[in-house]
Amino acid sequence: MARYKESVCRLCRREGLKLYLKSERCYTDKCAVDRRTYGPGQHGQSRRKVSEFGTQLREKQKARRIYGVLEKQFRNYFKQAARKKGVTGEALLQILESRLDNVVYRLGLAGSRNEARQMITHGHFRVNDHKVDIPSYLVRSGDEITVREKSRSMTRFKELWEMAEQRAHPEWLEFDAEKWKGRMVRLPSREEIDIPISEHLIIELYSR
Ligand code: SF4
Repeated sequence: MARYKESVCRLCRREGLKLYLKSERCYTDKCAVDRRTYGPGQHGQSRRKVSEFGTQLREKQKARRIYGVLEKQFRNYFKQAARKKGVTGEALLQILESRLDNVVYRLGLAGSRNEARQMITHGHFRVNDHKVDIPSYLVRSGDEITVREKSRSMTRFKELWEMAEQRAHPEWLEFDAEKWKGRMVRLPSREEIDIPISEHLIIELYSR
């Protein structure tokens, strides 16, 4: 599976905002966006006029980077969203939110979507009691996500579990700390998706 291998902090600096790609470090004063408020590279500090296309492109890149999705897959999600009834932008975000790596992250069982992806590929999670090691697996309403029994004694899981128990979960997800279980109750509405994206710009880009 192709993956972005450079420093992920560069991606945040390029977008000019925190994309929370690095677990706990993102919440400390070591965060690269807080320390260097300009873009990465030689031309990072220069001011350039951004065209309409450039604005749309940046919005799409930002969404791709937040969810850790490569271009081809992102375009496929757009096509899938366009076939659905209702608002395409909202449908696109709902598909992205339904990815297993995102659901695991939203449940608090990983510090970032990147970490969730790694844990999933290592086989730590089960969906409806079946092993699923594909981060892009699309979770459906009613699906249950559990941590594999063998993995529950791992220090990192214990740590995350304690944090997950204390945090508030989005209303479209249920979390049962005692049973090491999460459930997707329904798809989130646009208002429940707290990411700084203007999805209409992405739709405009792909509709050119
Ligand atoms: Fe982005 Fe986190 Fe790196 Fe800050 S620490 S730049 S939020 S990945």
